[in-house]
Amino acid sequence: MKTVTECVRPELCYSCTACVNSCPTNCIEMTPTGPVGSLIPSVDAGRCLRCGRCLQVCPALHDLSGNEPISVYAAGSTNEQLRNHSSSGGIATEIARNVINAGGVVYGSAIVNLEVKHIRVTSLQGLAKLQGSKYVHSRIYDSYRQVRDDLAGGMLTLFIGVPCQVSGLVGYLSKIPENLILVDLLCHGAPSQDCFEGGIKLETAEDVSSIAFREGNRYCFRGFTTDGACVFEMPYRASYWLNGFVEGSIFRECCYSCKYAGIRRYGDITLGDFWGYKGALNVDDGINFVSVNTEKGASVWAEVSKCVSWEPRTLDEAVPYNHSLTAPASRPENYERFKHIYAKSGGAKALLGAYPSKTVFVLFRRLVRKHRSLYSFVTKLPLLGKRLMEYPE
Ligand SMILES: Cc1cc2nc3c(=O)[nH]c(=O)nc-3n(C[C@H](O)[C@H](O)[C@H](O)COP(=O)(O)OP(=O)(O)OC[C@H]3O[C@@H](n4cnc5c(N)ncnc54)[C@H](O)[C@@H]3O)c2cc1C
Ligand code: SF4
Ligand code: SF4
Ligand code: SF4
Repeated sequence: MKTVTECVRPELCYSCTACVNSCPTNCIEMTPTGPVGSLIPSVDAGRCLRCGRCLQVCPALHDLSGNEPISVYAAGSTNEQLRNHSSSGGIATEIARNVINAGGVVYGSAIVNLEVKHIRVTSLQGLAKLQGSKYVHSRIYDSYRQVRDDLAGGMLTLFIGVPCQVSGLVGYLSKIPENLILVDLLCHGAPSQDCFEGGIKLETAEDVSSIAFREGNRYCFRGFTTDGACVFEMPYRASYWLNGFVEGSIFRECCYSCKYAGIRRYGDITLGDFWGYKGALNVDDGINFVSVNTEKGASVWAEVSKCVSWEPRTLDEAVPYNHSLTAPASRPENYERFKHIYAKSGGAKALLGAYPSKTVFVLFRRLVRKHRSLYSFVTKLPLLGKRLMEYPE
């Protein structure tokens, strides 16, 4: 029997770690040796039993059928403080609060010592670590095994992740028990942890202990020291790394052929930003797209919707503004060049060298940003001004 390393090409591996969690001899290790710093498995052949378990669980080798949404909503928490600390409307945190209040456990993504990874949370205070999107592939480590153990112990268990992580968990468990709630996020792509570290290096040489990616609806890359002092603050148009994330040029290679982009969903509930929302709810601090995809999702939503603001909406309204509901991100023309520089010289140099016209615009914005009067002058210039605010298509 073969192993995943013989059957899954590195550029198609989602780095979900289902294979690692499933291996009876723990002989699979994830290392950041894939394209553009992505994590890929390597097998210690001496300890491998050739049992084929890793092949059975791998989402790159098997397709889930998914579900089309039963209903769609725009929603946001009514708790202003909670909304401020969340990325969209805070509905992920509201669902998590319900689970903790019911005595359950929540798995989601946190930043620990600048590493983005999934953690297990059992208290309301602990949920603060999960709040806010981290626009980086979140490392799973042994979370799937922990989920399995919690489920076996009868705990109500919520797993929140991007669709390839939800799919990895489903593959690993092989069947979804009643006490597991799955929430998947709309996801247009995720850069590797290694690339993220390259992006931080381009902003500061100082030690930062935490990072924020959004301020309400605004994408902004900010780094803080342990005592909370802000070391850098770069709106996405002036940040090499965050600009690459928002414009989809620095994702891991698997994201450009992601089979989870589309209206079929893999969580009981799907959450995202409701870009293009035209309803009556307050959207100043962000608003969630919510789709309820299963009967279990409907009963979770029936509870959560009692204490949040929400409005029924349609999928058709969201689709034109959110490409992850239709197709994966387009692979940029210069992506091969990004990969090439990355392999030779690392993430920071690839971020600067792969897309020269973007780099020039970002650099220029960084310079004029320092001089507000110059910025307001150049951005008002006919033709050129607009180009300096927006990248050409
Ligand atoms: C990599 C990535 C790409 C995304 N792309 C899109 C997109 O194209 N369109 C769109 O509408 N929405 C996208 N989102 C989702 C959006 O940013 C919000 O996460 C979502 O709307 C939930 O917001 P909230 O206010 O309810 O969550 P909050 O209350 O802020 O809680 C955030 C939740 O997200 C989870 N989370 C945070 N970072 C990660 C991560 N790196 N991996 C897995 N789970 C994570 C946390 O566990 C937490 O449960 C993306 C999110 C990520 C992480
Ligand atoms: S074949 Fe079995 S023992 Fe070998 S790597 Fe895969 S799961 Fe582990
Ligand atoms: S199980 Fe996940 S990490 Fe392992 S090879 Fe498949 S996609 Fe990659
Ligand atoms: S775009 Fe697809 S492959 Fe990439 S992180 Fe999102 S769900 Fe995973």
